[in-house]
Amino acid sequence: MTTYVYPFESGDGKNKMLLGGKGANLAEMTQIGLNVPPGFTITTEACLAYLEHDVLPDGVMDEVRAAMRELEQKTGKGFGSATNPLLVSVRSGSAMSMPGMMDTILNLGLNPATLDGLIHQTDNPRFGYDAWRRFVQLYGKIALGVPDELFDEAMSTLKAKVGAAQDVDLTAPQLKDLAQTYIGIVEQHTGHPFPTDPMQQLEMAIAAVFRSWMGKRAVDYRRQFKITPEMANGTAVNVCTMVFGNMGNDSATGVGFTRNPATGENLIFGEYLTNAQGEDVVAGIRTPKPIAEMQQEMPRLHAELMELRNKLEAHYKEVQDFEFTIEKGRLYALQTRNGKMNARAMVVTSVEMASEGVITREQALLRVNPALLEQLMVPTLAPGANAVALATGLPASPGAASGRVVFDADTAEARGKLGEKIILVREETKPEDIHGFFAAQGILTARGGKTSHAAVVARGMGKPCVSGCAAIQIDVHARKARVGDAEFVEGDVITIDGSTGKVYAGRIPTVEAEFFDELQTLLEWADEAATLKVRANADTPNDAARARRFGAVGIGLCRTERMFNDPGRLPVVQEMILADTPEERQDALDRLLPFQREDFKGIFRAMDGLPVTVRLLDPPIHEFLPTASQLEFEIDHLRNLKRAVRGMNELPETLRMLDPELHHAYVDSLDHLNANLVQYEQQHRFDALIARREAMLRKVHALHEVNPMLGHRGVRLGLTNPEIYTMQIRALFEAAAGSLREGVTVNAEIMVPQVCTKEELVRVKAIFDTELDRVAALLGERPHVRFGTMIEVVRACVRAGSLARIAEFFSFGTNDLTQATFSFSREDAENKFLPFYQESKILRENPFEVLDVKGVGRLMQMAVQWGREVRPDLKVGICGEQGGQPDSVRFCHAIGLSYVSCSAPRVPIARLAAAQAKLREKEYSTSVFD
Ligand code: PEP
Ligand code: MG
Repeated sequence: MTTYVYPFESGDGKNKMLLGGKGANLAEMTQIGLNVPPGFTITTEACLAYLEHDVLPDGVMDEVRAAMRELEQKTGKGFGSATNPLLVSVRSGSAMSMPGMMDTILNLGLNPATLDGLIHQTDNPRFGYDAWRRFVQLYGKIALGVPDELFDEAMSTLKAKVGAAQDVDLTAPQLKDLAQTYIGIVEQHTGHPFPTDPMQQLEMAIAAVFRSWMGKRAVDYRRQFKITPEMANGTAVNVCTMVFGNMGNDSATGVGFTRNPATGENLIFGEYLTNAQGEDVVAGIRTPKPIAEMQQEMPRLHAELMELRNKLEAHYKEVQDFEFTIEKGRLYALQTRNGKMNARAMVVTSVEMASEGVITREQALLRVNPALLEQLMVPTLAPGANAVALATGLPASPGAASGRVVFDADTAEARGKLGEKIILVREETKPEDIHGFFAAQGILTARGGKTSHAAVVARGMGKPCVSGCAAIQIDVHARKARVGDAEFVEGDVITIDGSTGKVYAGRIPTVEAEFFDELQTLLEWADEAATLKVRANADTPNDAARARRFGAVGIGLCRTERMFNDPGRLPVVQEMILADTPEERQDALDRLLPFQREDFKGIFRAMDGLPVTVRLLDPPIHEFLPTASQLEFEIDHLRNLKRAVRGMNELPETLRMLDPELHHAYVDSLDHLNANLVQYEQQHRFDALIARREAMLRKVHALHEVNPMLGHRGVRLGLTNPEIYTMQIRALFEAAAGSLREGVTVNAEIMVPQVCTKEELVRVKAIFDTELDRVAALLGERPHVRFGTMIEVVRACVRAGSLARIAEFFSFGTNDLTQATFSFSREDAENKFLPFYQESKILRENPFEVLDVKGVGRLMQMAVQWGREVRPDLKVGICGEQGGQPDSVRFCHAIGLSYVSCSAPRVPIARLAAAQAKLREKEYSTSVFD
């Protein structure tokens, strides 16, 4: 026969599905020897049976009656006794916490006779009548369906009549009258006398709490928080002896955390009130005292509370958030659950509990959600700032920053040099804006997704970025922008929060990030536990140094194009692009080589022997030129200026005819100005400037591609213009050889982007070999540099075995590989249809953020397998944006990758995720592909 009722002494504390979270915890606390008020749990199975047949299943009430007899024995009280009444609470509790969504009845067992007993026993009529009127109301509402407003009206009428401001101002006789009015309301509404038989009260209360599982609040809540029947099915009912914290000054009630949930400090944290009920603490009628004060006020009970705290932590091996009541000098534990903490407190408590031996290091590592660490790596808006956002875009690079609005990179650079804090606001950004990024505190764009240029560059630099904020209309020429109803001119201050995507007017205070000792320790433990290594994507010596501070053990992607975008170099790059002859082109490249070589040397020095993977030039070449519309605007402007200068020649004569006096006053200065302007004309300065822009425009038109991301870029560009890759490879070998000579250990790798066939690799490898021989002969050093390929097009995955014959390592470029696998443009998808796809559950996640394991991941797994069949020691990494996302890291570990590489601030997240992936590898199965 099914058992429906379990006393707390025998319930299975692990079976939350059957007993609900509260019931399971009450059983567990009872069984580990904590002083829990005696009680029992009626199972969720009974609830489901009741809901199905609309009657309590056979045998339930027999079991309840037996359990109540046991309660009477344990407490020495009688259910319905007029001298020593036993009162109980009847509480809901399902497997998932649904705070306040289901019903609870307190003080059950009261009737006129037991009420007298209670008053007599406590010698406190006010307490007795207050408990009675609360019970009548709660029971009337929940068990008998009387509308709450009727009771509220009666309460308001009484308060108005006697002039009481609050409920607590009512006297015992007034409360007695109120209870009587309440009973009248119930009887009138139901047409029956108020039930006085405690067992009848209990039976109806149990049924009512079961029904509350299907109440509107509970159903809506489950829908909202996606609580499925597999997670929680039905509510249990906990019948528990009432204990009262308001029975005098030797009674109290309170709530506590076993450790401080804001700082993680190993000190009990909480509040209590003497002579009060739990709801008084919540209602804020009296100000509770910190638990530390209990040491003076009730030293013995304080000591008992400490013991309770220690037992809770030792047993649950987790910080607990618990409720307690002291009734006439006896401490009772009423409830406990795992405490919710902020990121810092999670880290601190993990390290401390492991050091104290409460938990193991493994448990400490598994306890912290890696994604939480992001909060600790970047500045955040100060808590309590409470500002209202003007607009919301995509949270593209985390962190908060304030600064003056600036609409182009040059102005950002100029104003930044003067020490101003800048937010660069652009329609979208291009590689040529890079100096604006350096100067800015944060970046805001109207277009582009989370893997747009702005997002990727900002993340790499660790600067906040909000992208795709469609509510912004920018007028670059008028130097103003409209955000919703507000208008900003250049120089106005705004604040952006790249963690939420919100944009605010004015300066909102922020709090700085900190890399504290416990975080350092936890991450060291993580490195010991993990097998997957974590590198960073870094493009400059500064980025490299920062990546090391975050604990990266190498650079997995150095995008060399970033070096070309430096304002000092971009004109040389443009010369190279615009060159008419091979000689002119070589001349420009010869001037670029030393820049590139010095950058590499700086990075090698910063990484001090750790691996550095340098990627040869990837983007389409037109990205280094201004856009056609920008050039057309400038050409137009220059032509207008040229006409205006001509007009200036005629100005003195015109003025003389119109106003001889004015002419006389200005004639000298006008002549002087005209003499200078004539020089412009004679030197053909305008023509030269216009001609250069026209040449650029012709080139821009010539380079125009319908779909540049699938066009002339990466290895395709490198093979059609071999002098570019030759220069880059030579610069790298020279840097390596030079560094070795200077005593710097170098561990360099070169990789080729966008490869889809072995033959492409063979051709680049030929350049590599030739340049290596040349540098060895010239400098007398033959640096060991590995040669590898990016895997970012679908064909490369399918042909991985063939590519592995040439490549010594693979690096998955999952930004492009995702784009290629889905045929989604990464620049457009995120602010066009992807949000809809996610909201309407066509896709569960954004595949540019979380690796699409089933599609892209499957391709990766095949590529790893086929690559290693040919080259068993093939090193394989990932350098797409997903490389710092915990679930993706877990998958990368599962398919045997050697490392992940991500932007520096995400390195700590990836380090912890890599450790967790190792510790939980047995739970991971290939069913991820199903
Ligand atoms: C990639 O495609 O994943 C990658 C790292 O390269 P990029 O983002 O520079 O195209
Ligand atoms: Mg790519």
